[in-house]
Amino acid sequence: EAKRQGRNQVVYAHQIQDREIERRLVLETHLQAGIQKDEFFVQYQPLMDLATNRLYGVEALVRWRHPELGIIPPNSFIPIAEESGLIIPLGRKIFEMAFADFAAWKTNFASARDLCLSINLSVKQMLQSNLAADIQAMARDAGLSLENINLEITESLFIDDMERAVKTIRELKTLGICISIDDFGTGYSSLKYLNQFSIDLVKIDKILIDNINGNLTNYNIVASMLELCAKLNLKAMAEGIEDIDQLEKLQGMNCPFGQGYYFAPPRDRNIIEEMLAGNMGSNLDESLAINDGS
Ligand code: C2E
Ligand code: MG
Ligand code: MG
Ligand code: MG
Repeated sequence: EAKRQGRNQVVYAHQIQDREIERRLVLETHLQAGIQKDEFFVQYQPLMDLATNRLYGVEALVRWRHPELGIIPPNSFIPIAEESGLIIPLGRKIFEMAFADFAAWKTNFASARDLCLSINLSVKQMLQSNLAADIQAMARDAGLSLENINLEITESLFIDDMERAVKTIRELKTLGICISIDDFGTGYSSLKYLNQFSIDLVKIDKILIDNINGNLTNYNIVASMLELCAKLNLKAMAEGIEDIDQLEKLQGMNCPFGQGYYFAPPRDRNIIEEMLAGNMGSNLDESLAINDGS
């Protein structure tokens, strides 16, 4: 009896594995079709200067408008795009869209002159040998100079080819592009990268920001990270600020930059344009603090 049960479990595990593989293949096929049919678009989340409470920049965040399934968040498809290699063509589309928007804002709004644009980059993209030249060409096509462009490296994969990664980052930095380490304090990100990649900005993960009020250990971890960044001459940004208590704690710790639903969720391009045009009230802070819950 026990033996049969054991065998059934093995069979069952195989079935789950097969179903998972099947699910991924289906998604991969849809993803490929979606890229061809331009079903992807970019939203932008404000990045704030916490010392002045002013808009510092925006982070481009991709979304998939699937004809049947509706809007699919990136966490549901970026991992599959990475594994399948589709992140390369998809990533290129994301750059094209964000560069086109950013170039238009720079031309049309004086308030966008010093604005910074942050784009997420997965490890697979970073390991492309022609990445820097590619980005340079896309910027040229968009009529955009590479000032105030920031790439956020999200480490969802272990970097096995450090030499390649370091070389690509050096090329990007030569173009004037800034490099951030995303989700710092989780995953594979480590102190070693701060030095090896000549990082400009460290984004402290939301997980750590979530509990700075209730948990003294978390508070101390974030405080130490901010001190470390200050000592190393790195900019620091807190992710996922959701309430005023968190904001005040971070301001008390001299955290220079922040992002989160407290200020604004990711928003469509046209809403960002209204913000830049100053149509959302004379006080940018107040207009940003309106959370539309999207
Ligand atoms: P990320 O780069 O760490 O982006 C921040 C994520 O946190 C975004 O989720 C944003 O909507 C969310 N967020 C910001 N503030 C708050 C807050 O106060 N509360 C909560 N609960 N969430 C907040 P999103 O847009 O779903 O993106 C998830 C992840 O997908 C990103 O994390 C990034 O790793 C990846 N991703 C998004 N767009 C791209 C892209 O264009 N290329 C690549 N390679 N990855 C992307
Ligand atoms: Mg990011
Ligand atoms: Mg992040
Ligand atoms: Mg994150």
